Amino acid sequence: MQAPNPSPLDSARERFRADLVDAGLLIPTAVPGLYGRSGVLESIIDAVDARIRRAGAGAHGSTARVLRFPPVYPREAFDRTDYIASFPNLTGSVATFRGDDRAHAELLATRAEGGDWDHFLEPAGTMLVSAACHPAYPTLTGTLPEEGALLDVYGYCFRHEPAIDPARLQAFRMHEFVRVGTPEQARAHRESWLPRALSVLTELGLDAVAAPANDPFFGRAGRMLASNQRTAELKTELLVRLYGDLDEGTAVVSCNSHQDHFGSAFGIDTADGAVAHSACVGFGMERIALAMLRTHGLSVEHWPAPQRALLAVG
Ligand code: ATP
Ligand code: ZN
Ligand code: MG
Repeated sequence: MQAPNPSPLDSARERFRADLVDAGLLIPTAVPGLYGRSGVLESIIDAVDARIRRAGAGAHGSTARVLRFPPVYPREAFDRTDYIASFPNLTGSVATFRGDDRAHAELLATRAEGGDWDHFLEPAGTMLVSAACHPAYPTLTGTLPEEGALLDVYGYCFRHEPAIDPARLQAFRMHEFVRVGTPEQARAHRESWLPRALSVLTELGLDAVAAPANDPFFGRAGRMLASNQRTAELKTELLVRLYGDLDEGTAVVSCNSHQDHFGSAFGIDTADGAVAHSACVGFGMERIALAMLRTHGLSVEHWPAPQRALLAVG
């Protein structure tokens, strides 16, 4: 059977991906959505991050607590996030070999015959981080001070969503500013970051618009959650059109309200004894860099002067 023709949008994405690979910016692997990054791409990401950190300092001075986590965190904490209920299909878990010599010999014999050896591995007690903010919540269990908590988290995330679209990666970085506190503190955080994030994108020369959004909650029950999230305006995305009219827009930044989801999951209370609310703004680092390459061209020497200047100081 012949594969159906790709849509014009898919073809455009495939061309952009091929161009990025030909230019040496993305280094492909055998798995879709998993790439190495060139020095130039990393320098764009660093420059974007310098601009994001400047916006963070402008908003919060030096009050945001900087936290950097590895891309792997405890399964026990993962379980509390409820991610497995909402996004089982995006989840990544770490497995390892815990058997004895005999089991190892069996594994090697199976492997020598060309068989699958994955079933010899067992859960290692760790999961891949799905959103940069997730490993931060266990650090807040207990009662928050009056002013709540304000975190600056930056790290690699894993989501099993293999795609040709070079902007949909299985492993990518997210820089987040997270507020945990009263409902008002969480709301104010989200509201103040929307225009701030838009102005960061404008300075990067990106034409972004804000739009209400929802997460792709899994299954039939998930459709209800998604529609509730959209109606309650709990998620706003900043979208950049990478392919003109073909494209509804790619989310380069998301502002999310979690209400009391993480507060109740991780036992975080406000100073007045209520369950804490939280909100975060997440910058998709690779997506922003790719959006700049798409908008300004693949050779940074030919970028407009203001964006070249950002790279020079980044
Ligand atoms: P999308 O709707 O495109 O799937 P999302 O709603 O899942 O994005 P969030 O979970 O809010 O995204 O993550 C915050 C940011 O991380 C997004 O705005 C985006 O820039 C980036 N991001 C999310 N998923 C990916 C991915 N698979 N590859 C690269 N960047 C991503
Ligand atoms: Zn977050
Ligand atoms: Mg998604």
